[in-house]
Amino acid sequence: MTDRYAVFGNPIGHSRSPRIHALFAAQTGQDISYEAILAAKDGFATAVSTFMASGDGPAKGANVTVPFKEEAFRLATRRTARAEAAGAVNTLSFEQDAMIGDNTDGAGLVRDLKHNLGCDPAGRRILLLGAGGAARGVILPLLLERPAELLIANRTEQTAARLALEFARLPGCAVDVKPDGTGFAGLAGRQFDLVINATSAGLSGASLPLPPYVFGPRSVAYEMVYGRETAFMAQARAAGARVADGLGMLVEQAAEAFFVWRGVRPHTAPVLAALKGS
Ligand code: NDP
Repeated sequence: MTDRYAVFGNPIGHSRSPRIHALFAAQTGQDISYEAILAAKDGFATAVSTFMASGDGPAKGANVTVPFKEEAFRLATRRTARAEAAGAVNTLSFEQDAMIGDNTDGAGLVRDLKHNLGCDPAGRRILLLGAGGAARGVILPLLLERPAELLIANRTEQTAARLALEFARLPGCAVDVKPDGTGFAGLAGRQFDLVINATSAGLSGASLPLPPYVFGPRSVAYEMVYGRETAFMAQARAAGARVADGLGMLVEQAAEAFFVWRGVRPHTAPVLAALKGS
């Protein structure tokens, strides 16, 4: 019997996850199926239980994307530490008596930075733009890499300040660096080695009010949005920074989910190359 997986979202038609997991399965010889499921905005839990109850093979897990990551967090009967810190779940594993919620987004970003882009966060001054779900999910994984500094800057300053305080006080978190939070005005006179855009501004074509000197000539500018040239990427390029989009993070978070489910870590480079080529 083929083990079944799916990704739930709304919208979901654009999702690249079925292709990524099909490529992982072919590469590693794992017998799985993986489909994209459009859940009604108020029908996530129902869609998951329908998926679990139907089909030919056993339902083993699911990925969860916008707008259901917080609901998946509540639906899970057990959660990993990184899901607890993120306050959101993008990976569910269905076990006999439990639904385990995990979050692989942060691990995906860190792997993309370190292994694909040669940009180790250790010792770097990091600026994280945005204080929504995507930003929250990557803070702990970044802190665990021991950067020199992590500053969270957001349009709504209070949200950044609240988020920074929450992670500065995270119980049981053995990290030396405490994040700070600010509004964009707080970036005056500051420069960073790594600038990560975790806002959704790129989706609406909006640009961010960043002083050009936040990027140094050896800085890396990482845009979490993928598949388009955003205003942030153009700003960073103009300032001479090295620019990457979020496609690598997407593939790496999928690889981490595949590892959680199957215990096998796929090679991501050929999958990333296949996606870039299409
Ligand atoms: P949320 O809606 O939770 O948060 C949006 C954030 O963007 C907030 O901090 C918001 O600021 C800020 N923002 C929105 N519009 C603007 C603007 N015009 N100017 C300045 N700030 C703005 O979204 P998520 O955190 O879930 O997602 C953020 C992005 O990350 C999305 O584009 C998503 O596609 C991408 N992403 C990519 C992944 C990948 O694998 N590559 C994985 C996960 C997410 P405020 O608080 O002031 O409203």
